[in-house]
Amino acid sequence: MLVAERDGLLIDAAAARRHDGFVCPECGRALILRRGDLKVSHFAHLPPVECREARGETEAHHWAKAALRDAFLERRMEAEVERRLVGDPAERRTDLALALPGGGMVAIEIQRSDLTVAELRTRTASYMRASVPVLWVGLVDAALAERIAAGRPGAGQSPEGLFLDRLPLPAWARFAGRLAFGRGAWLDPATGALWIGRQEVARQFAAPFRRGDPETGFQDVGGRWSSMKTRVDLRLHGPVPLRDLIVRASRRRAARIGGMDLPAGPIAWFDTEDGLDGRIEAFTRGYRAARAAVLGRPGAAAPDRTRAGRPAP
Ligand SMILES: [Zn+2]
Repeated sequence: MLVAERDGLLIDAAAARRHDGFVCPECGRALILRRGDLKVSHFAHLPPVECREARGETEAHHWAKAALRDAFLERRMEAEVERRLVGDPAERRTDLALALPGGGMVAIEIQRSDLTVAELRTRTASYMRASVPVLWVGLVDAALAERIAAGRPGAGQSPEGLFLDRLPLPAWARFAGRLAFGRGAWLDPATGALWIGRQEVARQFAAPFRRGDPETGFQDVGGRWSSMKTRVDLRLHGPVPLRDLIVRASRRRAARIGGMDLPAGPIAWFDTEDGLDGRIEAFTRGYRAARAAVLGRPGAAAPDRTRAGRPAP
């Protein structure tokens, strides 16, 4: 946690001068202040930790909250960590509450290690009922960092971005992506980079059987393209300097896509001052149309490979 209570006041860990007397605003138990040159100053519960506000918080989580807050504060935007945005006491505090220039607030939530789709959906719907759009931010883990590093150098700034195909993504990240029409954001705690991404359901081609041909050997006969349940094709754009980030908000209708129930209400996503999201959107539309022309609908027989693979009569 980055904020604790002391003598009835909320104190930020980075600004705390004393080392004792802090209590958790949520559960009221004593907190200790942790400081270090490498770590982000934060408050910690003493074990055993039973407080729900402390669950799933990691060093990367602390850093992400503080980095985004500081980037917005530097530009004189109103940003506050660990604020209760939704009145419902069953809800956790928001990682970062940001005031939108046109009025209203947006809730920025950093991925937690223990996040489930059910929890993400409940929280998103709860924010939506309170007319607060929520923007879920992922953290780049070792596996994703490896894929980013293997991407073409400099391609992150091109309209095509870094193309990470068939990337396994946790269910909550796929849900959050669908909620915002494929949009997503990932923060890398190791490098400080922020990537803005677009995800598509990954597809695979399966040839159900093969026919032997004495002249040419075995050939694929038939086959179908199908959606991969846990993998996405992800395009990442960036790294985007945090000082260039802005938030856009809109609304979405309820929908059921790929077995996921998406609630209706306000949504939000990151963009840059110079309109990166619009450029990605234009590229993505062209890409989707081209892919649909080649692959057809998920589950449909592949038009070209089926014919091409069939031995001549
Ligand atoms: Zn607590």
